[in-house]
Amino acid sequence: MPAEARPVGGVDYPRTYQEFRAWFPDDFACREYLGQLRWPNGFSCPECGCGGGWRTGKGLWMCARCGRKTSATAGTIFHRSHTPLSTWFAAVWFITSQKNGVSAQGLKDALGFGSYETAWAWLHKLRRAMVRPERELLSGTVELDQSLLGGRATGKRGPSSDKAPITIAVERDHRGRLGRVRLELADKPGGLDMIDFACDVVAPGATICTDGARMFTRLADKGYLHRPTPGYTAEDLDAVMPGPHLVSSLLKRWTVGTLHYRVSRQHLPYYLDEFTFRFNRRTSKARGMLFYRLLQQAVDTDPHPLKDLIGG
Ligand SMILES: [Zn+2]
Repeated sequence: MPAEARPVGGVDYPRTYQEFRAWFPDDFACREYLGQLRWPNGFSCPECGCGGGWRTGKGLWMCARCGRKTSATAGTIFHRSHTPLSTWFAAVWFITSQKNGVSAQGLKDALGFGSYETAWAWLHKLRRAMVRPERELLSGTVELDQSLLGGRATGKRGPSSDKAPITIAVERDHRGRLGRVRLELADKPGGLDMIDFACDVVAPGATICTDGARMFTRLADKGYLHRPTPGYTAEDLDAVMPGPHLVSSLLKRWTVGTLHYRVSRQHLPYYLDEFTFRFNRRTSKARGMLFYRLLQQAVDTDPHPLKDLIGG
């Protein structure tokens, strides 16, 4: 299947749990599937880039030029995992088939993991595979704004110190419909990292809508068409910047409803990745499509040992 073709249910991904069970009876079947996702146009050696090779008896690919043997999982988040691939697949199916995702406790209960920590680490590994900002830049018209997430209500006006500033960039077409979103945990409210973020996630030449803050004039120097709306007040937010406003309220509802506990600032970026993954595929009726996309991105991700996650 060509890399850009739209995957088809029942052909490229399982549509139901019954199909999932039938397609992936063992680790060999899982490995074959990952190989197809990783090399949709045929095996390519990660060592020398050579495009030819053959299969070994153990299901590895051997390069025709340099002779190196490669597994479909080498260099991915499944690399050197002691857990059977079929268990990983079950986790990915479970996570993507739930509309709003699962908590670590939910995953632990569903798959019978011995420890909460294992389930937690798996979720975080998979979350890292959910967003590939360098591959999919936002384009067209993009609204850029910030919102405060979490923290206790203090009864005071204004931002409190335990709220996390989230920078939101979301596409909006001429009919007002929202497209894809990108989120980032900002250093501080209204900081210049909003500009860096926009440059990282929005394609040059796109139109970026912001409020009237002076710093946003830099966007024009960075190759964007900048459309500021100066001097709006909080009551105008829905009319002027409806995209980030809506995303922000959905994000708040999701963190409360799915995660059930206060998200630590340290791990917030991973939750933002999961929200982004789900939001950007919200119109996909087929849950199997999310399964496909997550695995596809997982074989394209560096391995992240648990110690990195905890140390992160
Ligand atoms: Zn090679």
